Amino acid sequence: MGYLGGFLVTVRQHGKRNRVTTEYSGGRMFRRGKKESHDEKVEKPERLHGRHVLNRYEDGMEKCIGCELCAGVCPAKCIYVRGKDNDPANPTSPGERFGFVYEINYLRCIHCDMCVEACPTEAITETKLFEFSFTNRRDAIYTKSELLVDDAGKPQHLPWEDWRPGEDLHTSGWMRATSPSGDADFEGVVSWSGELGYGVRAAEADQAEADRR
Ligand code: SF4
Ligand code: SF4
Repeated sequence: MGYLGGFLVTVRQHGKRNRVTTEYSGGRMFRRGKKESHDEKVEKPERLHGRHVLNRYEDGMEKCIGCELCAGVCPAKCIYVRGKDNDPANPTSPGERFGFVYEINYLRCIHCDMCVEACPTEAITETKLFEFSFTNRRDAIYTKSELLVDDAGKPQHLPWEDWRPGEDLHTSGWMRATSPSGDADFEGVVSWSGELGYGVRAAEADQAEADRR
C-alpha cells in the first residue's frame, strides 16, 4: 500500500469515528464517578516516589557522608557524588567525609528508590513531589544546593515545580520500604534518626492495619 492508500485508510477510519484516542484529561477528569477540575491533583499513595531530598540532622548537620553507595546501586546511573574530608574545626556532616558534589539527573531517574534503600544514614529520601517539567537539561539535573532541605528541614521549592499545600511534608526516613535489618519483627519500631524541623518521625502503621482502613 502506497502513501496515498494509507492516507485513504486514515480518512475512512476518521469518517467511521473509529478513533481510539479521546480527549486528553490527564487521567483526572472522571475519578470515582466524579468530574474533577483539570487543576486538581489526585490523592497520592503514602509511599509515592517523587523527587529526592538530601536530609539534615536536627542540629542542622548534613546526613550525607559522601559514601557513594546510592550512586553505585542506581540502575539508571543518574547519581553523581563526590565526597570530601570534613574540616575537623567546622564539619559539614558527623562522618569523616561529606557529600561535596551531589547531582541527580531526572532525565534518567526511574524513581525505583534503590538509592534510598542503600543509603546508610537516611540522607537521601524521595518526596511526593513529582509534578515538575523542565525546558532545558541544566534544570533537569538537580544539584546538591537544590536537593538539600532548607533550614526548616523542608525541600526547596524550585521554580518549575507544581506544589500544593502539605506536599512538602513526609519527605524523610519513614519512606524506606524495609526495616534496616529487613526483619518484619521491626515493623512499627522507629529505627531512624531525627531530622531538622521534624525530630524523630513516628513509625508507619503495619500493613494489616493499613489494609483494614
Ligand atoms: S530512584 Fe532509582 S533511578 Fe532514581 S536516583 Fe534513586 S536509584 Fe537511581
Ligand atoms: S546519599 Fe547516602 S548513600 Fe548517597 S553518598 Fe550520601 S550517605 Fe552515601
